Amino acid sequence: MTKRHPNPRLVKIHRSYTVEEVAKLFGTHRNTVRNWLKHGLPTNDSKRPILILGRDLAAYLQARRTKNKQTCQPGEIYCVRCRVPKAPAGNMAEYKHVTGTVGNLIAICPDCDAIMNRRVSLPKLEQIRGEIDITMPQALQHINESA
Ligand SMILES: [Zn+2]
Repeated sequence: MTKRHPNPRLVKIHRSYTVEEVAKLFGTHRNTVRNWLKHGLPTNDSKRPILILGRDLAAYLQARRTKNKQTCQPGEIYCVRCRVPKAPAGNMAEYKHVTGTVGNLIAICPDCDAIMNRRVSLPKLEQIRGEIDITMPQALQHINESA
């Protein structure tokens, strides 16, 4: 449970944490914590080792809980297991047609190897793809090229 739902209340707001300590606190992988750092968790970035203020950590986790899937930036897909949007493994995704101009981007999470899904509309594919190298089904390749 703690792995999937890091509880902001476990954080002591008056102390600071290293990446390892945060990982330990939530029973999660260091890479997951590093991923939070990439997605806006603040640090004392001038010093080593990196320290994360408890106050910042609690606020970040709280915000993440309420924000949900809309936090995906271009080039990101939401991993339901890690509960963070992130660039897929190898920056590769496959477009699977659903209906009309709607499809799913399917990719692999670089941290936990889970399948990541992002619902996309074909006309917006260029806006959201970012750095992702998207494999299109044969039948739709001409649409992707003209988009
Ligand atoms: Zn994941």
